[in-house]
Amino acid sequence: MLIVMDAAAAPEDVRRVVDTVNGLGLQAHPIPGAQRTAIGVTGNKGSVEPGVFENLPGVLEVIPVSAPYKLVSREAKRETTVVNVGGVPVGGQKLALVAGPCAVESEEMALAIGHAVRRAGANLFRGGAFKPRTSPYSFQGLGRDGLKILAKVRAETGLPIVTEVLDTEDVEVVAEHADCLQIGARNMQNFALLKKAGRAMKPVLLKRGMAATIEELLLSAEYLLAEGNYQVILCERGVRTFADHTRNTLDLSAVPYVQRISHLPILVDPSHGTGKRQKVLPLSRAAVAVGADGLLIEVHDHPEAALSDGPQAIVPEMFAQLVRETRALAPVVGRAL
Ligand code: PEP
Ligand code: MN
Repeated sequence: MLIVMDAAAAPEDVRRVVDTVNGLGLQAHPIPGAQRTAIGVTGNKGSVEPGVFENLPGVLEVIPVSAPYKLVSREAKRETTVVNVGGVPVGGQKLALVAGPCAVESEEMALAIGHAVRRAGANLFRGGAFKPRTSPYSFQGLGRDGLKILAKVRAETGLPIVTEVLDTEDVEVVAEHADCLQIGARNMQNFALLKKAGRAMKPVLLKRGMAATIEELLLSAEYLLAEGNYQVILCERGVRTFADHTRNTLDLSAVPYVQRISHLPILVDPSHGTGKRQKVLPLSRAAVAVGADGLLIEVHDHPEAALSDGPQAIVPEMFAQLVRETRALAPVVGRAL
């Protein structure tokens, strides 16, 4: 935080601000300028309330310079975090390819898609057992039976499992079956769930809320790290805008922005980000080009019959094409599959 004094501020005004800063257990660094004095504030663990200083005599403005997030920032850790999801590194030189259906619908379909995406080159399997649906009448997922099916997919394909946890009560059981807990867009600011997931000793994939700023995404990640869980992967999945040619607007600029200020890896989900099958491949190319640490792709062998998110699901052949193109593009940006 930087406190800028008015040009007309008296020396005792500056002293009062310095005393107030020190009184809070923080350090004040007065920086006299040609026109006015600015006072740098350091030593704060969280963000400092600007109102404490704003009303002191002689204060012109208070500029927050220290970001509110601490543990997720590159200031806290310079090198990019590599998250180990069941033996698969996410955030290193190799791109992570998380693929599978939106929802686990049956053992047969989950296994068929699991084998298909593994053959094509996916290194992680996704599939929802607990589904956050807009309508209470839509398919809600197979719940615990779905988790057992996911464990079977891992046993048969060797692919580690990423699956969503919706409820604080289910964190343990999901953590028992999965290799990575997904916290979805709708729950990005479910702080009770974040705290509980932060205490689970499993990696967490945290998706950006559909109306969340990057700062809010990073602060939600901060909840996980503050509980001691440093195994956190972020995911850009689009935000809601006035545009209606896609389901969401995929904010690819979030990727280099997040990578500059945070050490956490970030994936891109062009499936939810566009909601349209034909847009998944071009936006996947763009995501790799922009420097994403991997992709999250919904794949279904019969999208027309899917119980959720059929219009954005690509078929296994299209996923194989996506992998081929990703493999060709990755070296351009210093990555590999
Ligand atoms: C999903 O991954 O299937 C999902 C529900 O995603 P989001 O939370 O991004 O909508
Ligand atoms: Mn989905």
